[in-house]
Amino acid sequence: MELYTPEALIGEEEIALRIEALGKAITQDFENEDLVVICVLKGAFMFCSDLIKKINRPLKLEFISLSSYGDSTNSSGNVRLEMDITANIEGKNVIIVEDIVDTGLTIKTLMELLSVRNPKTVKLASLLFKPVKLKHKVNIDYLGFEIEDKFVIGYGLDYAGRYRELPYIGILNAGN
Ligand code: 5GP
Repeated sequence: MELYTPEALIGEEEIALRIEALGKAITQDFENEDLVVICVLKGAFMFCSDLIKKINRPLKLEFISLSSYGDSTNSSGNVRLEMDITANIEGKNVIIVEDIVDTGLTIKTLMELLSVRNPKTVKLASLLFKPVKLKHKVNIDYLGFEIEDKFVIGYGLDYAGRYRELPYIGILNAGN
């Protein structure tokens, strides 16, 4: 049988504790406010699912899909909108939920796309941040973890469509 044990970088418990803290911060920052949470597919699905359970505010959940990576571990340099949200965000408080900020191109493109729709506020929650490769100015309002420049998988993040189901964040080794 195939070996299927990527090395763990951030474990389930550590992720859960961090998400609880992020949920609390969002809950406090949006007292008496409604929210539109936009989950960036596919990588953020697990993070977003756990995060919204810790936000104690009325919210609407939307999904958007962008692609920049294809099947490789290097950015293609192009970001394509594959699926748009259905809600009108004009005058709304928006929280974008992303899996990872690497060069920052994806989030910069998404911010530009959403800001012309006149939301009241746009905040960013990102599970991971790799500062080494950052090329565009990105402000992460709610950050899970800063990591070094390694290709990570699990907890929603994939390599060629695989490993999304892992409950922890791992690093790929030869043999996986
Ligand atoms: P950026 O546009 O910031 O360069 O890249 C953001 C996107 O690249 C993320 O949403 C994610 O899909 C992908 N990405 C960047 N680094 C990694 C990584 O280490 N692992 C995985 N699985 N995807 C990554």
